[in-house]
Amino acid sequence: DNIKKHYTQSSKLFGLNRSVVKAVDGVSFELAAGETLGLVGESGCGKSTTGRAVLYLERPTEGTTRFNGQDLSLLKAEQLRELRKDMQIVFQDPYSSLNVRMKIRDILSEPFRIHGLHTGREIQMVKELLEMVGLPPASLDKYPHEFSGGQRQRIVIARAIALRPKFIVCDEPVSALDVSVQSQIVNLFGQLQKELDLTYLFISHDLSVVRHVSDRVGVMYLGKMVELGDKKTIFQKPLHPYTQALMSAIPVPNPKLQRQREKITLRGELPSPLHPPAGCRFHTRCPWAEARCSQAEPQWREAEPGHWVACHLVGET
Ligand code: SF4
Ligand code: MG
Repeated sequence: DNIKKHYTQSSKLFGLNRSVVKAVDGVSFELAAGETLGLVGESGCGKSTTGRAVLYLERPTEGTTRFNGQDLSLLKAEQLRELRKDMQIVFQDPYSSLNVRMKIRDILSEPFRIHGLHTGREIQMVKELLEMVGLPPASLDKYPHEFSGGQRQRIVIARAIALRPKFIVCDEPVSALDVSVQSQIVNLFGQLQKELDLTYLFISHDLSVVRHVSDRVGVMYLGKMVELGDKKTIFQKPLHPYTQALMSAIPVPNPKLQRQREKITLRGELPSPLHPPAGCRFHTRCPWAEARCSQAEPQWREAEPGHWVACHLVGET
C-alpha cells in the first residue's frame, strides 16, 4: 500500500442525440494519493463526464482508466464491485441524491448492506459517521427533509465515506448551497481528507472554491484539458490564453491592483461541443489566434516541470 495510487484517464466518447460527441477528448491525467486536483471550466466543457469516466461509471471507448495501477477495463464485475468501495462520488444536489423515504440510519447503513458487510456494529458505525461530519446522534431517526441543504450535504458526505474510500469525485459539491454554508462544507472536505487520507477530484466552476481546496488545477475547454499545473502556477502564471481569461475575471480585493491588471474579454459564444472548431478548439475566441490555430491542433506538452499546456504559442519567443 506504499505504492502511490494513480488514476489515469484517456479519451472517451459518448452518444448524444444520435450524434457522437467527443465529450472528453484525449483528457489524460494522474492523481497522486492524498492530493486534490481541482477541475475548472465553463458548464458543458466535460468536467462531470471526466469525473464519471475516472470512476468508470461511463466506460471510455478509447483509452484506459487505471486505479491503483489496475486497468479497470480488465477487471471482472466482481473485482470492480470490490474496488467500488474505494471510489465514491458526491454530487451537487443533496436533495436529489438522498432517498426522502429513508431515515438517516438506513441511508448511512445502506453502503454496508450493499457490500454485504454485516458486522452487527452498523449503528455504532453510523453514529461515528454522523460525528465525523458534524451532525448530532439524534439525526439517526430523522428523514432528509428535516435537514437544511448544508446538513443534507453532510449526510451525503457521511454516506460517501462510510466504506472508508481512498478516492472521491466531488462534482460541484457546494454549488447548490448558500455561500455562508459553502465554506463549512469545504472545510469539512479538508478535515476528512486529513483524517482519512483521501484523494479528491474536485469539480467546480467556482474559482475561489477551487483555489481554496486544490493542490493542482486542471482547466477544461470544450471537452479538452487545456492546462494543468500546481495551483499557484495556474492562478498566478497561467500560460494558456483561456486560463488567462478565466483568471483575469476574478476580482482582486485591492481595486488599484484590479486596474493594473488587464481583464481579458473573450469574443464570441461558446461553440457547441457537437461541432467543436477544428485545430485548436479555442481559436474562435482566442485573442492571440493565428492562421495555424484553425488548422493544427496544439500538442499537450509539459511546458515546465509539472506544468502542462496545449497552445501553439507556448514556448515560442
Ligand atoms: Fe490561442 Fe492558438 Fe494557443 Fe489555441 S493554439 S490557445 S488559438 S494561440
Ligand atoms: Mg457538470
